[in-house]
Amino acid sequence: MEKHVLSKSTYMLGCQCTKRLYLHKFKSDLRNPADENQQAIFDAGTRVGEIARQLFPMGTDASPVDKFNYQESVLKTQELIANGIKVIYEACFQFDGVLCAIDILVKKKGKWYAYEVKGSTEVKNYHIEDAALQYFVITNSGLKLEDISIVYLNNKYVRQGDLDIQQLFSTESVLNRITIKQEAVVKKIKELKKIITEKKEPVIKVGLHCSDPFDCDFSNHCWKDIPTENSVMLLYKKDKIYFLEKEIYSFEEIPEDYKLDKRSSKKIDKLKDTEITINKEQIGNFLSKIAAPF
Ligand code: SF4
Repeated sequence: MEKHVLSKSTYMLGCQCTKRLYLHKFKSDLRNPADENQQAIFDAGTRVGEIARQLFPMGTDASPVDKFNYQESVLKTQELIANGIKVIYEACFQFDGVLCAIDILVKKKGKWYAYEVKGSTEVKNYHIEDAALQYFVITNSGLKLEDISIVYLNNKYVRQGDLDIQQLFSTESVLNRITIKQEAVVKKIKELKKIITEKKEPVIKVGLHCSDPFDCDFSNHCWKDIPTENSVMLLYKKDKIYFLEKEIYSFEEIPEDYKLDKRSSKKIDKLKDTEITINKEQIGNFLSKIAAPF
């Protein structure tokens, strides 16, 4: 089996920003230094995934022995399905050069159900993008799915005594929300594969997408020439979007005739006040250190 061109994670990078995918693939030396917080979030997510397996116990793990050889995992998944295994963890599929795994795959009354576990307390928009790709790859690989759901943490659960796994998680079918996205998935895959094969850096301006849905790990590189003082990033969303679009990055560059949202004006006034207060304080400190000449 040939190695994949895109995985679920690189597809998701490309959905956030095509330049991020390009940099990840071809200029990884420009990545921000490793962030311990991000690693901690990632580790917590992995732990949640492991606990959620108890919802469907006694499954077989299809993860590859060599973590870089996912094709081994695809073959193992096919074998497990053929051998009548009814619960598979990390089931892996590949279709048309796109690889993805699903946390838990379960066969009930002859029908397959897919579950993707998230460490959040609700279903978020990017979970839908993610599940739409999984559904596309799994079903086009030849496995019919009866349903696909997101399993997430139930924030109403209060532990009393032993951990109740059924109460700890909520499960929500997203089938209706992802089937309507299948055409968009095909288009996106085509666009992202083109970036990888042509190796041409997309021209993308910085913007709100740099931290939505995740903080981009190439932000130091892309934002290096953007002023951080008096930044328009501090303003109300509507203004922020407008200014970033126009490549206006600091308060000083805001055109005089632009009508700011009231919330942004307040923010700027507040910051100016703070500056004055700080300056007064600093002047006071400075004067107190000067010995009186008389
Ligand atoms: S910092 Fe922003 S523009 Fe640069 S790669 Fe990341 S998301 Fe794209």
